[in-house]
Amino acid sequence: IQRESGEHAETLYAAWCEGRTGYPIVDAAMAQLNQTGYMHNRLRMVAGSFLVKHLGLDWRWGERYFATHLNDFDLSANNGGWQWVA
Ligand SMILES: Cc1cc2nc3c(=O)[nH]c(=O)nc-3n(C[C@H](O)[C@H](O)[C@H](O)COP(=O)(O)OP(=O)(O)OC[C@H]3O[C@@H](n4cnc5c(N)ncnc54)[C@H](O)[C@@H]3O)c2cc1C
Repeated sequence: IQRESGEHAETLYAAWCEGRTGYPIVDAAMAQLNQTGYMHNRLRMVAGSFLVKHLGLDWRWGERYFATHLNDFDLSANNGGWQWVA
């Protein structure tokens, strides 16, 4: 996996957060999270894996975003889920 850093990484991360990646299932997942505070378990895995393996970003960036947006945020479940998808 190519690891992104600097300004390019920030641009990719903003697109992921805002559901503008161009991958419909990822963008739908992020739209659900942003609009409702919930995302189905399968989509957390898809969106998380995409951030790490397609965008090449640090899993902790995604973990932090989920932590501030999930209505069911739980430190151990979120951290464990992110380490698993990464
Ligand atoms: C990247 C990532 C981040 C996550 N962050 C959180 C979080 O912050 N808080 C949280 O509660 N869950 C988290 N999960 C786990 C899971 O996504 C949610 O618990 C689940 O979506 C809840 O949906 P549900 O209530 O319909 O439960 P169902 O799918 O019907 O399952 C019943 C119960 O089992 C538990 N459960 C189900 N799937 C998981 C799982 N993969 N890991 C742990 N417990 C599970 C939940 O307590 C849930 O209420 C995360 C998963 C991933 C992959």
